[in-house]
Amino acid sequence: MKTLQEIVSGAKRLVFFGGAGVSTESGIPDFRSTDGLYNQTYAYPPETILSHSFFEMHPKEFFRFYRDKMLCLDAKPNKAHKKLAELEKKGILAAVVTQNIDGLHQKAGSKSVFELHGSVHRNYCMECGKFYPAEYILASKDVPRCECGGIIKPDVVLYEEGLDDATVRGALREISNADVMIVAGTSLTVYPAAGFLDYFRGRELVLINRDPTPADRRASLVIRGKVGQVLDEITV
Ligand code: NAD
Repeated sequence: MKTLQEIVSGAKRLVFFGGAGVSTESGIPDFRSTDGLYNQTYAYPPETILSHSFFEMHPKEFFRFYRDKMLCLDAKPNKAHKKLAELEKKGILAAVVTQNIDGLHQKAGSKSVFELHGSVHRNYCMECGKFYPAEYILASKDVPRCECGGIIKPDVVLYEEGLDDATVRGALREISNADVMIVAGTSLTVYPAAGFLDYFRGRELVLINRDPTPADRRASLVIRGKVGQVLDEITV
């Protein structure tokens, strides 16, 4: 913790790169922990349900899973989200790059957030492009429909879909300009997001995760712990 504090205090451009583990302390399950979604039983594996072709072929089943497991609208930011918002306000943190789609960084007050996989809070009619909030998707039955009759699709990146160009460019710019990067709450197994670490050219790479990750040996500091608890101990 002392080393982490020194690294953060000395940072000029800190970037945080996070995944589902950042929101587990807010009660949102991740994918790969023992109590994560991959270890619960559904008719299809989560990667199949959350793919573009499944969405096209079985929209009703897709939305049943999506409403049940991905729309956690009552979740509140935890200590990790709050500390990151505070670090940004103090001018230490340049950006959060997240694989999460839950919008909790913005709810905590973060402004510079790159959502690589989109957000449950943006939903568009596939016919006319009309915008709908997440509450509309949650309240709808079966497949959510626009007033024009079109299907409403959440603006989240499904398997088989590409990432948004502008978001990728912004995230890579921040990562390549950072002197310190904290990577936390991610198994670093989902590509291309996990490959973004290769763009970091700064001094200190810090990894905070409950389980080991493939990037541990590249890090200058590895902390095995809960990201909310660890970040909460940083003084700004
Ligand atoms: P993952 O489920 O593959 O891995 C999560 C990692 O976080 C694990 O290594 C686990 O050990 C660690 N972890 C869990 N809780 C932690 C905690 N409190 N403190 C520290 N570490 C903790 O998640 P991923 O790498 O982000 O990949 C999953 C994909 O699924 C992402 O692309 C993301 O888009 C999506 N997803 C998003 C949400 C969300 O928006 N909250 C939730 C589930 C999945």
